[in-house]
Amino acid sequence: MVLGHEPAGTVAKTGAGVTGWPAGTRAALEPAIYCYHCEFCRSGRHNICANIRFLSNPLIPGFFREYVNLPAASLLPIPDSVPLDAATLIEPLAVAMHSLKFAGIQIGDRVAVFGAGPIGLLTIACLKLAGAGRIWVSEPLAHRRDMAKSMGADVTIDPNQVDAARQIFTEAGNRGVDCALDCAAKQHTTNEAIRAAANGGRVVITGIHSQCFVPMEVSPMRRKELAIFNVRRSNDEPERARDLMVERLNWFAPMITHHRPLREIAAAFANAEAYGEQAGKTVIV
Ligand SMILES: [Zn+2]
Repeated sequence: MVLGHEPAGTVAKTGAGVTGWPAGTRAALEPAIYCYHCEFCRSGRHNICANIRFLSNPLIPGFFREYVNLPAASLLPIPDSVPLDAATLIEPLAVAMHSLKFAGIQIGDRVAVFGAGPIGLLTIACLKLAGAGRIWVSEPLAHRRDMAKSMGADVTIDPNQVDAARQIFTEAGNRGVDCALDCAAKQHTTNEAIRAAANGGRVVITGIHSQCFVPMEVSPMRRKELAIFNVRRSNDEPERARDLMVERLNWFAPMITHHRPLREIAAAFANAEAYGEQAGKTVIV
């Protein structure tokens, strides 16, 4: 299986009939191929296409390789001002932007984010842009708490030291946050998001749980009448994510802390898995 689904690259060659993509054009790449014919595509929700083919699945190789053959529609041109490594942030930024559709942020909303990996960090930036008031971030790694602050977190919490959900609920006027986003997708972070949310609040599960069955605290969910949302990648956000990357490159680019050549990918993955070397996002070049 070939992993890798946050890609950017340069056009090497095009097939017959493809126009407008001269060799050398730099582009962010869309890792999913949609059918554009099913009822979900036709209703504008192609991210939940019934016939989706996602490159980076056991049967469909992803992007950790030298060459990929893609439909031209899967390419998003990037201007010279955006380096290729930063262009790899466009795909996850689009996911964070898509999650904001469910977060429904009103100016001044109190918000909590659980997990400050790359998706959590980009989510914090989007929340800031959307007008969130105070943003609490729960993240066990010190260097990622620092990154969360630079992305716009107002309060960072080490969940190994305190009960993060309780602290957030209390500090948010002793009523909880309007919206809690789970960007870590562990059993405990999903339940902390539920506990941190206010009555009538929204819980957005952006992360992907590694288990199929995850126990959730249904009593507070019901008592608070929470709205629980799931996020599947992104929909029509990649173009705006690209434009935002152009506008705010200096804000996002510091998330990329490491570059590793393809031949060292196993060590790069081992380091990411161990949360070593104070890594933010590692780019395979
Ligand atoms: Zn479809």
